[in-house]
Amino acid sequence: MYADLHRHLDGSIRPAVLADLARAAGVPVPADLAFSPGMGLAAALSRFAFTLSLLTTPASVRRVAADMCADAVAERVTTLEIRFAPQLHVGASPAAIVDAALDGIDGRAGLVLCGLYGEPPAVLDHLVDLARSRPGVVGIDLAGGPAPGHDWSMDDYAPAFRRAADHGLGRTVHAGEGRPPAEIRVAIEHLLAQRIGHGTSLLEDPAVVDLVLERGVTIEACPTSNVHTGLLPSVAAHPLARWLALGVRVCVNTDNTLLSAVDAPEEHRRVRAIPGIDDDALARLIAFGHAGAFRR
Ligand SMILES: [Zn+2]
Repeated sequence: MYADLHRHLDGSIRPAVLADLARAAGVPVPADLAFSPGMGLAAALSRFAFTLSLLTTPASVRRVAADMCADAVAERVTTLEIRFAPQLHVGASPAAIVDAALDGIDGRAGLVLCGLYGEPPAVLDHLVDLARSRPGVVGIDLAGGPAPGHDWSMDDYAPAFRRAADHGLGRTVHAGEGRPPAEIRVAIEHLLAQRIGHGTSLLEDPAVVDLVLERGVTIEACPTSNVHTGLLPSVAAHPLARWLALGVRVCVNTDNTLLSAVDAPEEHRRVRAIPGIDDDALARLIAFGHAGAFRR
């Protein structure tokens, strides 16, 4: 029934499993771990340091990946993509971590490997190499966000994304997440992105809207996440109804089920309450999600 193309493994641990892993590691779960409205992207991203500290081993990654697939069934999500950055799970090689995730997924979801803004492009190159030999990996992503101290710009990741395209891998990029729409243009034109994560600034540049329409790009909207990072005052303020009216292919996603305390049915309920979203519009959003899934 639902599709969820944008769900981060390290932000989507079951609360009981998080408590379990923390107990085993001998650390308390921080009281302020969950996202809260308006906290900002930097504070939101900082929460992953804790979840990642509990997910260093292949066994923990396998467990969470398997749980996510079971949760999706309970949520009636029939098209799921799980994404994560294996290089951040430091208890084993990225290859071993990817294999653990694929083992946990067991064919029930697509896996997307995330490079991170600010990382040397060689890291993304390595992820493309890992993906090539593993059919369960369906695409690559650029996640996190640009920061002033970074040595690398988006364009520096273009060769790795182009190589991914040559090998038939899907490409998505976290872009225009409260940053100018020019970022969306670079992602599409230089990184050959077929999907854009967030893209909340899209309407600020009609030429970029035209580009998205012309290329048939799918926007992965994550409205609750956008409220948490302070981009929107409420889910009702999300522009996806206007995007749909313009013909943009947009789907609804959870981003992080643990940290945003949301699941696919709840995210869709919130979107259904947005002015301009009726049952037909909701059905179109869901259809765009299924159609936008990466396939190899
Ligand atoms: Zn994301």
